[in-house]
Amino acid sequence: MVCCFFEHPLLSGQGLRLHGRLLRYGLLFALCLVLSGCVTQPRVGSDWAQWKPSPNYGPRKANYVILHHTSSATLERALLTLSNPNTQVSSHYLIDRDGRVLQLVDENQRAWHAGESYWGGHTDLNSASIGIELVNNGKEPFAPAQIKALLSLLSEIRSRNKIPRANFLGHADVAPGRKTDPSALFPWRQLAMSGFGLWCDPPYPTPPESFDIILGLATFGYDVRDPLRAFSAFKLHFSPDRGIEFGETDRAMLYCLVGKILTVGRE
Ligand SMILES: [Zn+2]
Repeated sequence: MVCCFFEHPLLSGQGLRLHGRLLRYGLLFALCLVLSGCVTQPRVGSDWAQWKPSPNYGPRKANYVILHHTSSATLERALLTLSNPNTQVSSHYLIDRDGRVLQLVDENQRAWHAGESYWGGHTDLNSASIGIELVNNGKEPFAPAQIKALLSLLSEIRSRNKIPRANFLGHADVAPGRKTDPSALFPWRQLAMSGFGLWCDPPYPTPPESFDIILGLATFGYDVRDPLRAFSAFKLHFSPDRGIEFGETDRAMLYCLVGKILTVGRE
């Protein structure tokens, strides 16, 4: 573009002065482009770290699956909420009662489904998990077709992401006291029998006197800063039929589950 000025017939006298001014402006413009390019590039390096890029990297993979129920009456209503930019909530997948599966967010991207959360030392489950919403009003049983579709989806997710069996959890597990989904009607045992999550059936091993419930819950993964909330989340997941008290049977089941998470939990 600059070359065309040299070929122009007005390149003499006033024309040359004009050309010189344009050339200066052109150089200034080019400098601005370079500087603005630097500003808009991804932030790399810093005053304290020199940028030495390596080609050996790829997208991060999820290591947890967090399950939810929508509380909405229909898939359409749930979809409106999960795709409205004003709600600031989403999930990777949404499964209808009839087993229809919708994908809303790429698995390699961070969907906004868990919010403030904790599990086993992780304080940002959104960054480490795939979120699945099940259309359910929170009071109804989960439809068999929906659970069948969920199990198929979980198989695919696990094979793609190599997620350990202990890391299939509910929203209530990672946000005790703040969330209560999926509801007590969710078939956690059925999922665990298919390899998604942990479970223990009686007879449970007898825990030693020294086995402490709070330490057990913390070892399993729960946030125990408020022990009552952790008890409630555990009961919702593992023993919703045994009332609200944390009894000896619950203590024995927890002892069994801690043993499993330390042995087969990473498989
Ligand atoms: Zn939820």
